[in-house]
Amino acid sequence: MAVSPEPAAIPSFEDARHIVEAHAAGLREPKIERVELLAAARRVLAASVVADRDIPPFPRSTRDGYAVRAADLGNVPTTLEVIGEIRAGAKPEEIPVSVERCQAVSIMTGAPVPPGADAVVMVEYTSRRGVRVEISKAVAIGDNVVAQGAEARQGSRLLDKGIVLNEAAIALAASVGTLRLDVYKRPQVAVITTGDEIVGLDTVPGPTQIRNSNSYSLGVQIGRAGGDPVLLPIAADERQRLREIIEEGLQSDVLLLTGGVSMGRYDLVEQVLAELGAEFFFTGAKIQPGRPVVFGRLPTEHKYFFGLPGNPVSTMVTFELFARPMIEALAGMSPRKLTFVHARLKSEIHIKTGLKRFLPAVLSGEFENSEVELVAWQGSGDIAAVARANCYAVIPPDRDRIAVGEWVAVMMR
Ligand code: AMP
Ligand code: MG
Repeated sequence: MAVSPEPAAIPSFEDARHIVEAHAAGLREPKIERVELLAAARRVLAASVVADRDIPPFPRSTRDGYAVRAADLGNVPTTLEVIGEIRAGAKPEEIPVSVERCQAVSIMTGAPVPPGADAVVMVEYTSRRGVRVEISKAVAIGDNVVAQGAEARQGSRLLDKGIVLNEAAIALAASVGTLRLDVYKRPQVAVITTGDEIVGLDTVPGPTQIRNSNSYSLGVQIGRAGGDPVLLPIAADERQRLREIIEEGLQSDVLLLTGGVSMGRYDLVEQVLAELGAEFFFTGAKIQPGRPVVFGRLPTEHKYFFGLPGNPVSTMVTFELFARPMIEALAGMSPRKLTFVHARLKSEIHIKTGLKRFLPAVLSGEFENSEVELVAWQGSGDIAAVARANCYAVIPPDRDRIAVGEWVAVMMR
């Protein structure tokens, strides 16, 4: 018996994306593991990091020069008495207890500004003569000094859970003496590829067979989104076998299926999912490539699934647009909205209206002069074209012609 899901109005790209984001926002917090600081790079922080002391821990000079009282420099040039020198890392007993009126202390970048002084004059505006220094430029209170605790107060939260730990976050954790970090466990993402014509890489393909490449593009994308791919066997276009493999996929945290979601007679993915009791949140979106994309949930432990169209470029694009936010949420990442950068169009585009398009493109130019140009392609099966591209140009559904020099949205990959 062919059970097909209720035909529903096909949502716009934005509506479909928001449906996924709304489901992703309702997920439970993932499990936590503790790892060494450097191993935490690119992982998702699971417990906030707090300042163990004020940052900076003392008023810090940001220049080589002289620590002064700004009020003494009302009339420049003026000459001050030099009462000492402070290096970065100077011991407390090496720091003058107080800088009095008309006194100065020679100071180095990163050294503590002594009590009494309220600014630092850069060495470039000074000339030293023995125990005296002539200063040629006035300063305001606080110039070239970062006050104690100005960057963060002891006990304040420096890093929130849910962030992806980049080099700045790791450096900040290091700066407060963190040797290990709590991060979320990576979600397992089942990849099920379907199609009678698809063979594994260990098989010499027959004349009409196609090697499975989608599991590999997805494997890379899943890793980048913070998940671990679990590549399941290729499912032939046959109900029972497909059902068994989907059931195997239920051991993972989320299921990605490729192929078998179009209108063809052997496109069984939706039917088999429906037989397993799936709810469908959308079965298609007004995009190209990737229009037949499916998003839903199976009753077993409320596992989400995505049915990604099998054409290789469609698989890659629909992953980025819809599966990525779900996997990021399963990985514990705080939600972030999809944003596009913009570049000027290098060669004119003519296209049919009605669908939002994500077309393989090359972003080039230099510095502020970014330009974008579509790559020539044979449609959404053309892996060679997408491999030449470094981004997707995002074309709104109401535009049939875009002229050279117009700003075009770009989705980086
Ligand atoms: P389908 O979505 O099943 O109709 O497949 C659309 C096109 O994508 C067909 O030309 C398939 O041969 C191709 N295709 C499907 N799955 C894969 C895969 N895993 N690797 C490479 N090509 C695929
Ligand atoms: Mg197929």
